[in-house]
Amino acid sequence: MSAQNNPPKIAVPYLLTPGPLTTALSTKQAMLRDWGSWDGDFRAMTARMRQQLLAMVNDQDNEFDCVPMQGSGTFVVEAMLSSLLPRGSKTLVLINGAYGKRIAETLKYLGRDHTIIDKGDYLPPRGNEVALLMRNDPAISHVVVVHCETSSGILNPIEEISEAVYENGGKLLIDSMSAFGAIPLEVGRPRYEAIVSSANKCIEGVPGFGFIIARKSELEMAKGRSHSLSLDLYAQWKTMNETGQWRFTPPTHVVAAFMEALALHKSEGGVSARGNRYGQNRDVLVEGMRKLGFETLLKDRWLSPIIVTFFNPADPKFKFDKFYELMKQKGFIIYPGKLTIVDSFRIGCIGNLDAKVMQKVVEAAGESLKEMGVERADPPQKALDERAVLAA
Ligand SMILES: *Cc1c(COP(=O)(O)O)cnc(C)c1O
Repeated sequence: MSAQNNPPKIAVPYLLTPGPLTTALSTKQAMLRDWGSWDGDFRAMTARMRQQLLAMVNDQDNEFDCVPMQGSGTFVVEAMLSSLLPRGSKTLVLINGAYGKRIAETLKYLGRDHTIIDKGDYLPPRGNEVALLMRNDPAISHVVVVHCETSSGILNPIEEISEAVYENGGKLLIDSMSAFGAIPLEVGRPRYEAIVSSANKCIEGVPGFGFIIARKSELEMAKGRSHSLSLDLYAQWKTMNETGQWRFTPPTHVVAAFMEALALHKSEGGVSARGNRYGQNRDVLVEGMRKLGFETLLKDRWLSPIIVTFFNPADPKFKFDKFYELMKQKGFIIYPGKLTIVDSFRIGCIGNLDAKVMQKVVEAAGESLKEMGVERADPPQKALDERAVLAA
């Protein structure tokens, strides 16, 4: 019997991870045909995709454009930074986790002058701190901030940061990788020059490309600036506008899947409905986990609907690797923590899942604790002391 007539039974776990994430069946099915990258049908698909993404930022004055770029999110962040930051410029990078750190590291590779505000694992960078630094260092022309810092799950206060940046004559670039599509980011609200996100986060596509939505005047100025042939945002933009094509082999199937994901996003009710579903996922998760004794790293005010960090329980019988395996056996892939001071793990709220699934996640966590012989999941006092410094 051929494998096709008798497909192997595959376990389909829920990915409670911030991308790749759980996708809809129809999104996966959209990859079941081949596309010629030069073909008119694929070019039309690319054009529709760019339009639909632009529509999500409500660019009424037609001042922005959307440029897709091959690669994972980091490639696309690098394309944005290398193309939109002038070579002689000085950039302030706001850091409170791994993704902010990665931006500063990218600027080192690119040889772009920069300074940082590093708030550690979970404190938000604040508008007044940005204003103070910019007043003291007039060379700073650009600021880069991470919207939802996926390492802790904190939703950074980009409104007050944007105000501080523009009041002090700067320009703002936003890494909205894990927030775009679920948290509103319309042009001017807050003000920005460019944002970047990718296919496999809140739009719920599969991995393979990202996109930059940038002010056209900024894109024009990027001509000849990039250090990299393949990551040259200006060249990609110009070629796409002139020929409808990506400069190099596009991830055709991924784009096709993304179109289905965009259609599902729209039929769900767009950004606000998607954000509401993720918010409910988070609420069910956090409430249920707290009943088991778990506690969140962040106070409620800073909890994003994207991903939640929980402290590891104090009970020495709790071992994360074991917990991970037990959760996996029950159909849920969770995510290790990324904090430096206390042990933690993360559970993502994004992807094609709802409150009912989250209830099951909580039940699975309870059973897994029992199987490890852990009675209560309360965190160690050290973790709570650490958290107490977080501003209310
Ligand atoms: C996912 C993510 C990225 C990109 O990571 P890749 O692994 O390169 O896709 C960048 N910034 C943030 C905030 C993210 O969540």
